Amino acid sequence: MSEELLLVVDPQNDFCPGGALAVPSGDEIVALVNRLAGRFAHVIMTQDWHPAGHSSFASSHPGKEPFHTMEVSYGTQVLWPDHCVQGTVGAQFHAGLELPQAELIVRKGFHKEIDSYSAFYENDRRTPTGLGGYLRERGFTRLYICGLATDFCVHYSAVDATLEGFDVVVLEDACRAIDLDGSLAAAMAAMHEAGVTFESSGP
Ligand SMILES: [Zn+2]
Repeated sequence: MSEELLLVVDPQNDFCPGGALAVPSGDEIVALVNRLAGRFAHVIMTQDWHPAGHSSFASSHPGKEPFHTMEVSYGTQVLWPDHCVQGTVGAQFHAGLELPQAELIVRKGFHKEIDSYSAFYENDRRTPTGLGGYLRERGFTRLYICGLATDFCVHYSAVDATLEGFDVVVLEDACRAIDLDGSLAAAMAAMHEAGVTFESSGP
């Protein structure tokens, strides 16, 4: 029997309108996610969780601007406004979320020198978060993914989940994108290529 799970990616204040790295209409997913979660026996979440002065912040690199890129030890990194700093209101989950049943919260991006879009591997593509092992040990085989943002953390989480051997469905209407220089189209292509399927969150 396939064991299913809902993975809610980064539904945090800083990724919603008014936040430090607002995803357009990011807050629109909150009611959908609450409703969706009721259909799943198991829910887990990720939480972007950076130390102050994180290497993905433009402010950590004199002369660099947010949304520009920079070459770092593991490749090209987008530089972001300071966001989801550990312990801040911006890093908290959106107050409208009602997911007390969530069984696990995976915090990511806590290594100061490595960003982590994916719930499974940090941006060096080598450092695991441990989520793959957790899901396998618990016998999950199929992941339904929603959250913020479609073209970054949802995208990388979904592709990595397929690489980890899980069946992956992205609930497209329960995601919102940043869409930086064509990043949404590229993310959609990469997810299709990886074998991710797409569904609506339903009525
Ligand atoms: Zn981040």
